[in-house]
Amino acid sequence: MEYLKKTKIITTLWPATDSIEKIEELYNNGANIIRINYSHSNYDYFSEIIDNVNKLNKSWKTNLSILTDTKWPEIRTKSIDEKIVLEKWDVFIFTTVSNEDNITNNDNKKVIVCDYEYIVSDLEVWHIIDIDTGLLKALVIEKRPGELICEALNAHKIWSKRHVNLPGIKIHLPWITDSDKLDLKFAIDKWTDFIALSFVRNRANILELREFLKEIEAPENIQIISKIENQESLDNLDEIIDESDGIMIARWDLWAEVPFETLPVIQKMIWDKCKEAGKFFIVATQMLESMIDNPIPTRAEVTDIFNAVMQKADCTMLSWETAAWKYPIEAVQVMRNVINYSESKIIYKHKHFKKDLGENEHKKIMIKNAIVTAENLWSKALIIFTKSTSNAKLTAAFRPNLPVYSFTYSDSLSKKANILFWIESYVIEESTNKEELEKAIDFLKNKWLLKKWDEIVTVNGMYIWEERVPNIHVLKVS
Ligand code: PGA
Ligand code: MN
Repeated sequence: MEYLKKTKIITTLWPATDSIEKIEELYNNGANIIRINYSHSNYDYFSEIIDNVNKLNKSWKTNLSILTDTKWPEIRTKSIDEKIVLEKWDVFIFTTVSNEDNITNNDNKKVIVCDYEYIVSDLEVWHIIDIDTGLLKALVIEKRPGELICEALNAHKIWSKRHVNLPGIKIHLPWITDSDKLDLKFAIDKWTDFIALSFVRNRANILELREFLKEIEAPENIQIISKIENQESLDNLDEIIDESDGIMIARWDLWAEVPFETLPVIQKMIWDKCKEAGKFFIVATQMLESMIDNPIPTRAEVTDIFNAVMQKADCTMLSWETAAWKYPIEAVQVMRNVINYSESKIIYKHKHFKKDLGENEHKKIMIKNAIVTAENLWSKALIIFTKSTSNAKLTAAFRPNLPVYSFTYSDSLSKKANILFWIESYVIEESTNKEELEKAIDFLKNKWLLKKWDEIVTVNGMYIWEERVPNIHVLKVS
């Protein structure tokens, strides 16, 4: 079944949804992109998931793209056998694995050990340490050789391998590790359409990633999504947006890195900048967190999805909701239903954007006018033929109010357009404009997306002298 909505959905796979049947069910209930999170598990497991997605796509049961979300360097507490219980105002020692045996702990303070070598040198008195993603805030009250003395600002129990965030601190971790590179190589050899770059810090990181992709001879069109999840990435937001294909607000980690009351404003600010630049934007994490355990969402979650739609995000994401536990399919259904209803209440305006996406201004104006023409004529759909998907990107960036069916010549390119706002992306064999159009219309008729006498607007590239230029036609389906 084809289910059309404007805002796309990324779903994360893990044991609750890794079977071929469940993947198909996710798709039928609104998933457009499958996210594989390399923070966990192994290559054999991922290999099977990717094979299953490809199998479903090949048999036309789904039209799913694959997103690789790599681990990247992170700081965690070490494995322990017993939880460390901290009460508010408890004073404890925070140190690193290499110094663990050297601490002198005469007054028997509790000790938390992390795997970050520079924890003492990077931090000063009055800095805040965030442990377990927002659940424990601790204040550094004293610095000693090899250890920090901290005060718990709230009560919490610390278990093994908890995330450590250092809000506002420039950390001395490499931004990419050798194991990330191996993961990327594996993902690219198998198949990936998108790479989500965790904890990106600046333009240089993205350039280095592109260089690495070239070195390993990755397909040129892999889309790079920068995850905005710490202060440094916010400080360098403009250059990161410039260099990326799309942006994700990764609210899990960002929550721990900035004062949480600022998060909604930051989300709006990032989106405004993406809109200005014509780049796609993903809202991620905890959108339906309560559905990990419950069959229905909370009021606030439904409102969060509505707000993402109101902000005109290209895409929303489900993490643990579809990865584990009880209600993965229900979570996608809820997300789809809320998206659909919210979208039905919005009339999208086709605001011009400043950056040029590498296209000339003429092309932008042509695409915008194709959208306006189709809308003014109450056409059933806009059909675009796009060799590099640039027409699809431009169309999405103008936020059309009618369905857009995009046809491109390679499966790989088609899957990259799947993330874009209201772009239904398909593959077509390259031939003459007339033949391509006939084939596309037949294809859409077979899918019950068009019928005889429907009025449509088409945009194709025609060679005028040497140059391929967009052309707009208004047609009735015969
Ligand atoms: P993660 O990214 O799930 O890989 O941490 C998303 C986030 O931080 O929100
Ligand atoms: Mn994260």
